[in-house]
Amino acid sequence: MIEKILQKEQLNRDDIVSLLELADFSPVYQAADRVRAEYVGDVVHLRAIIEFSNVCKRQCKYCGLNRENKSLPRFRMRHEEILETAAQAVKAGYRTIVLQSGEDDYFTAKRLGEIISAIKKLPNPPAVTISCGERSRADFAYFKTKGADRYLLKHETADAALYDRLHPCGTLRERVDCLKTICGLGYETGSGFMVGLPGQTLETIAADLLLLKEIPCQMAGIGPFIANPKTLLAGERNGDPELTRRAVAIARLLLPEANLPLTTALSVLSQEDENRSRKASERIRADGPGNVNESKASRPVGQGSGKKSARLEGNRKGKSIQGSAAGQQAGEAGNESEAKTSGRQTDVSKAKRADASRWESAGKLANCDCVKKAGLRLGEDCTPITDDGGNGAPMENPFSFGANVVMKKVTPDQYKAAYEIYPAEFKKTDIFADRQELEQLIKRFHRIPE
Ligand code: SF4
Repeated sequence: MIEKILQKEQLNRDDIVSLLELADFSPVYQAADRVRAEYVGDVVHLRAIIEFSNVCKRQCKYCGLNRENKSLPRFRMRHEEILETAAQAVKAGYRTIVLQSGEDDYFTAKRLGEIISAIKKLPNPPAVTISCGERSRADFAYFKTKGADRYLLKHETADAALYDRLHPCGTLRERVDCLKTICGLGYETGSGFMVGLPGQTLETIAADLLLLKEIPCQMAGIGPFIANPKTLLAGERNGDPELTRRAVAIARLLLPEANLPLTTALSVLSQEDENRSRKASERIRADGPGNVNESKASRPVGQGSGKKSARLEGNRKGKSIQGSAAGQQAGEAGNESEAKTSGRQTDVSKAKRADASRWESAGKLANCDCVKKAGLRLGEDCTPITDDGGNGAPMENPFSFGANVVMKKVTPDQYKAAYEIYPAEFKKTDIFADRQELEQLIKRFHRIPE
């Protein structure tokens, strides 16, 4: 059955769901890796992200930057700071600068345009990716005239009803229209979505993947949902990394030439960030109501579904369910959909056990003291990354699922912690040393950093 699906020219929603729920997904990973090798080769593109403003006028329910989060200190980087950070990143070897922010009206088209054109005037001018949310067609066109090369706007979920519940400030239709406008203006267009959103089903994930193809996207960021304790989704279960990896692999099959970032929490590269993220969540909960609404902060992870469903219900009422069949399943029958998802995720859990030995060696490496102390640095006494993992077991290569991009924050330390879409603690930024560490690590996985 798998062979039959993998040989098809076009995968449909049922095909994708069938793949996502396989007990043994390894043939799909192998197919994705073959496609990756054939279409984008062994190069791994490194992108430097500057998070230049955490001010946002929207209220996305999963995001720590949403305007209702009054405990978050807000910042805006000055033009000169942004430019200096970009200049350092270019000197360190980055060929792409990603300018990312909340939807902040202070950064008018003119202000943002000035930043883009200043970056494009740097020696060895980099590609510029903008990730600043929804704007007017005129703004998108203006940024292009200033030199912007790519625009990243994740659709987050292709289920219109779920989208409505999570995004009080917009609709899926508006989001997709923006993406099509961006694409029509000649940008390299990026979208993406979260895996594990409350109420999501495997059909939703299939619809997410097919939407990437429909737009069509040349970049796609697919990451696990991580519950932020300072949001209305506090206490929800985090997305499943294995299911996320599967979605990335299928994205590679659907979009052979796309740039697919290795998102955090997916690999040994991200284990450290994942640990920090978990610790940050625990710390925020332990801090109690100083920063966080007490009832949200004290609710144990995974036991909040009753309250949160009630919270989501308010926005669900009266909204029509547009679009997909997955949307209809996850709409008014939200609980039923959740149950369905849980059932399918149980199947994925079985597959995880089957893959356990593969991941064990990667996990051992990520947890070794040397890696922990140095962030991503691999010291002499680490288990070396070799084809056999140094212990006879195959070493997992985090790029073997189809990803070919790594995004690295270069945001100055005084701002980085406050860019809290989800909670995380990060080691200090050293743009040059971080870049070198990443390059070394990528080479050890027999890939070519660029
Ligand atoms: S996801 Fe983006 S638009 Fe939504 S609240 Fe966060 S920063 Fe703002």
